[in-house]
Amino acid sequence: MRLITVGSVAFDAIETPFGKTDKIVGGAGTFITLSASFFVKSQGIISVVGDDFPTDTLEFMNSRGINTSGIQIKEGEKTFFWSGKYHNDMNSRDTLITELNVLEHFDPIVPEAFSQADYVMLGNLTPQVQRQVIERMAKRPKLIAMDTMNFWMDIAMDDLRETISMVDVLIINDEEARQLSKEYSLLKASKIIRAMGPKILIIKKGEHGALLFHENHVFFAPALPLEEVFDPTGAGDTFAGGFMGYLAATDDISFENMKRAIIAGSALASFSVEKFGTTGLTEITESDMEKRMQQFVSLTNFEMNQLA
Ligand code: AMP
Repeated sequence: MRLITVGSVAFDAIETPFGKTDKIVGGAGTFITLSASFFVKSQGIISVVGDDFPTDTLEFMNSRGINTSGIQIKEGEKTFFWSGKYHNDMNSRDTLITELNVLEHFDPIVPEAFSQADYVMLGNLTPQVQRQVIERMAKRPKLIAMDTMNFWMDIAMDDLRETISMVDVLIINDEEARQLSKEYSLLKASKIIRAMGPKILIIKKGEHGALLFHENHVFFAPALPLEEVFDPTGAGDTFAGGFMGYLAATDDISFENMKRAIIAGSALASFSVEKFGTTGLTEITESDMEKRMQQFVSLTNFEMNQLA
């Protein structure tokens, strides 16, 4: 198995200026693996749900080549539930409810078949659980990427720094990069954060794209300008899933290939935000995705005329 992901598999209830959902399937692990499934045909997910989680969602994941044997199903317990409300600009949101339920005592199990994977994606969870997954692999993977959030910086900075020191790629947003580095300039922040361990840093800037830092190289990928954004939930996870899925499928971790992987992640994230929950990812075909990647190429491609 090329890629394994640890991340929440959840119920979400989302409110945006365009509408409101009851409990729908969400979770960082769900978005990451569905997104990666456009590139990798065999991958695994490590997570935990309650017995209230729909089996047809797990079956759908299986049909997309996602091995769910690493998802523990806890009898008599409830699935993690998160509810959020977006403001009018859709760039900011308030968390209304977080019910940890089965996530509270999550002890991740790495099935034997997953333990040799070369690519590992650590979705946003407690830094301790992320670390346990690394420690439970049979060998050091070729590339470990990690997402996190300001919440862990507020309450578990030492633990977080320990996990960050063990990974190759850190994927965070601009606000988180500033909080982690205590530096406003993202260029300066990128140096401080990479001195903490990860060789590669990706800073997401929402509708303003993403920056990729490695040694003294920087690459910028825009987000596709969209007429309608319905629900940004999971956009960052979808981006990370597309990025890691592309790298795992091509098995090439050069800086040049990471640029392509960033575009792959950005293309998938653009579909994800067009519909509520995971719907944007489940309704598209591989050819829709390829066309969208081409749109990114045309969006950014230009030639300079020679000055006379
Ligand atoms: P994002 O929009 O990238 O922040 O990801 C949203 C997804 O993360 C939702 O589907 C939630 O179910 C999930 N989520 C929200 N809070 C947490 C948390 N504390 N731990 C794990 N997953 C979470």
